[in-house]
Amino acid sequence: MPEPEKDAALFICHGTVVTGGTSDGGRIIADGAVLTAGSRIIAVGRRGELRRKARNAVEVDARGGIIMPGMINAHMHLYSTLARGLAPLGPLPRNFPAVLERLWWPLDAALDGPSLHASAEVALVECLRSGTTTIVDHHESQSFQKGSLKVLERALRRTGVRGALCLGISDRYGRGTEGLEENISFASRIAAREKDGAALVKAMIGLHAAFTVEEATLKEAVQAAEDLDLGLHLHVAEDLADQRACRKKYGLSVVERLARGGALGPRTLAVHAVHISREEIRLLAASGTNVVHKPQSNMNNAVGVCPVPRLLRKNVLVGLGTDGMTADMRQEARAALLLHKHASGNPSAFFEETCRLLLVNNPTLVRKVLGWKLGRLRPGYLADIIVLDYHPPTPLNRNTFMGHFLFGMISARVSTAIVNGILRMADGKIRGIDEKALARRAAEQAAALWKRFRRGKSP
Ligand SMILES: [Zn+2]
Repeated sequence: MPEPEKDAALFICHGTVVTGGTSDGGRIIADGAVLTAGSRIIAVGRRGELRRKARNAVEVDARGGIIMPGMINAHMHLYSTLARGLAPLGPLPRNFPAVLERLWWPLDAALDGPSLHASAEVALVECLRSGTTTIVDHHESQSFQKGSLKVLERALRRTGVRGALCLGISDRYGRGTEGLEENISFASRIAAREKDGAALVKAMIGLHAAFTVEEATLKEAVQAAEDLDLGLHLHVAEDLADQRACRKKYGLSVVERLARGGALGPRTLAVHAVHISREEIRLLAASGTNVVHKPQSNMNNAVGVCPVPRLLRKNVLVGLGTDGMTADMRQEARAALLLHKHASGNPSAFFEETCRLLLVNNPTLVRKVLGWKLGRLRPGYLADIIVLDYHPPTPLNRNTFMGHFLFGMISARVSTAIVNGILRMADGKIRGIDEKALARRAAEQAAALWKRFRRGKSP
């Protein structure tokens, strides 16, 4: 395939087009094609019908695979990649607060610019490899807050993955104000630079979690989100400890406290929401607040099961994120499917819901919160497209799609990734990045990071 110019039109063809989640009207087009121009999709249909329009476009051959929208990760931690193989400090944690205190907090306190950049680049390359073309990241680096979002932005632009960035403001080391300032200065610069709906990088205002954020900080963050017209992104009731601390200090549940502080609303991402009452679900629904479900993380930390079926019944928009456990949204979907079948004792549970969370709700969520028109192959949508090396061994149509997705496509190799109309990975090769050299650089950074981690000083 010739090397396309940066703004070349692309004609992705010789494959089966899946235009989006089939529970939301997605179509399946045999011998289909997608035509892009600039950052957008301009036509979708049968290859023969589109060919004339595509005369000047660069052809991207799907080699008989599945052409579908890139996946969206609604809650990611780019900072966590270099924790692989790192043992927590002290005795093995036996509950979630101990996991935070012995692993994640000392890790984020040990990060610096070079280690953060390496952590992010490795994770973003893994995103492209697994077909994730958009992430909503939630960052923490208590010793290195000022300028940290710019480091992540650089990694996004270098790899070409689309991302929304924020820093989780926390008062746990008395650095809430510094965290707020970093969010504001980054978001102000991004907003001034890009007003276009196709912007590769956007901003949110992040808060770590209710139990590490004091009232004054919460108030200032809510005000900043309002002033800058941005969404809020925070961990909510991930563990029962969050609810207990809130009850003790404020006499309120976590969601009640957030509602009182004006932190709920249609542009808020309340992530986890594992330990929430019926009243809290009512508050989330009434305010239009979005929930992001992270089944792998919840099982890994043994914190409990988010009541997703009940949230969906009450019309809360629930999306899916990985919490940094993986870059691959298809693995996360598989975990959601199995967790909710197992938890409900019903082998027919959560089949359609799993596909809905990933393929329908995540696109709706990023449009609602960030203004990106993503997750569908339709004219006018952003050209974030992947190709899966998947050749259906049974009939593939709208009725059978979910079975193919959850039991076949879920483990298929991703051969091609296009973001904003730019070819970032072709035939399994990521353009412009030497992955082995990147891994070597990351391992060097990890060795130094782990030394700082073991010294274990709070910032
Ligand atoms: Zn998280």
